[in-house]
Amino acid sequence: MIFTDTRNSSVKTDLRTAVLQGMNPETGGLYMPTFFPKLERTFLERTSTPSFRDVAFESAKLYCSKDIPEDDLQEIIVKCYPFNVPVVPLDPITYVLELFHGPTCAFKDFGARFMAQLMEYFNKDEDKKLHILVATSGDTGSAVGSAFHGLQGIDVTILYPKGKISYLQEKQLSTFTGNVQAFAVDGSFDDCQRLVKTAFTDKEVRAKLRLSSANSINIARLLPQSFYYTYSSLVVKNRSELDNKIENPAIIAIVPSGNFGNLTSGLIAQKTGAPIHGFVAATNANRTIPDWISSGHYRPRTSISTLSNAMDVGAPSNYERIAALYTLDDVKKLIASYWTDDTGTREGIAHCLERTGYIIDPHGAVGWKAWMALRNDGLLKLISGFPNDPELPGLTPSVPSWAQKVLDNRAVGILLETAHPAKFGDTVKTACGREPKIPNRLEEILKLPDQSIPLSNKYADFKSKLLGNLL
Ligand SMILES: *Cc1c(COP(=O)(O)O)cnc(C)c1O
Repeated sequence: MIFTDTRNSSVKTDLRTAVLQGMNPETGGLYMPTFFPKLERTFLERTSTPSFRDVAFESAKLYCSKDIPEDDLQEIIVKCYPFNVPVVPLDPITYVLELFHGPTCAFKDFGARFMAQLMEYFNKDEDKKLHILVATSGDTGSAVGSAFHGLQGIDVTILYPKGKISYLQEKQLSTFTGNVQAFAVDGSFDDCQRLVKTAFTDKEVRAKLRLSSANSINIARLLPQSFYYTYSSLVVKNRSELDNKIENPAIIAIVPSGNFGNLTSGLIAQKTGAPIHGFVAATNANRTIPDWISSGHYRPRTSISTLSNAMDVGAPSNYERIAALYTLDDVKKLIASYWTDDTGTREGIAHCLERTGYIIDPHGAVGWKAWMALRNDGLLKLISGFPNDPELPGLTPSVPSWAQKVLDNRAVGILLETAHPAKFGDTVKTACGREPKIPNRLEEILKLPDQSIPLSNKYADFKSKLLGNLL
């Protein structure tokens, strides 16, 4: 596959360069495939649903076959995904896609692990180690650290703001040994980002280290996220007739969103043939995208802190990819959008438990609220000309092309549950009175000693520790 970028369509590059560079240093643009090949119809229309790993392999082949031989790719997929991807029925027209069964209990494992494996693969013939620098305010750092841990030829340095992330998140970041090292910065997330950015532009550092970044704009994090959309839509398509007697339902993916990488991956899955009819973009009070869809104006802003903190993004970088794929009119036809505040998020957690017995995390709860708004009278009001006030939580006043299917009860939803509720135990307990059980893999991490190195927010300090570590 040849990749191009969102800012200059004459750019052509191979997978290896796109993955190792992360973004195009010349244009500042984000890499995208030049076209979207389709999965074989015989594969999509199999009567027995393929396994997640089958779908991952068939989908990865579309982008990697020129650069990675099939046997190697198969091995990469097996290493990436040694965990389950359950599609759990919640009520007659809702399935939850549980994306938290990876090592760090959040969906970022899917992208980070694939990116890490590709980087190791593409770097194996280089004599110099690759050094990944990441600044994190939570989930990204642990997914990246865990994904690269123990890989050959790659070192990882993670910077996080000391005391500004949850205890569990800090444990997940600070307990790595070996090739993954965390710095606990006495400062804010912005300080961490500044230190990383300065290092990237420091000639002396660049002469000593082959630096790369692992942030979410890397195309190697987006492509693998499309695998679970394709997989779950095939599962639901095959099960729907049995589960809810709806033949060929319109399948709607409900996506709790922040930086909009996850939703962009869904759009990619649909382009390669996944039977998904529409999407719901569900955000917290950081409603830059819902506002764009309702007003037509894209206005990035500074982020606001909320209970679903992994979605606290005011200037979502994948807007650029969505706008490169679709016109605003097409976006409106395909994607319904919704936003809610912290009160709504707590209500979502409580309501989901009360109605279905399922304990959902604060991110998934935003999606649950959005789906409830659509199923109840939200769409009907929109269609009959009673739009919501965009300043208040609720559905954005634009009617997707699939709205009638929902009103006719011919649609089913797949709600993406992006994190394990135990990662946000306090919020969940306050909202619904139940404390989610902590999975064993998180319990184990809680017992490990802190290996992080304290750091001031001064660049000189960071530089000497970063280079000193090489000795
Ligand atoms: C990162 C994250 C999100 C947001 O995903 P985007 O791809 O940034 O939209 C949602 N939920 C959880 C738990 C996350 O970690």
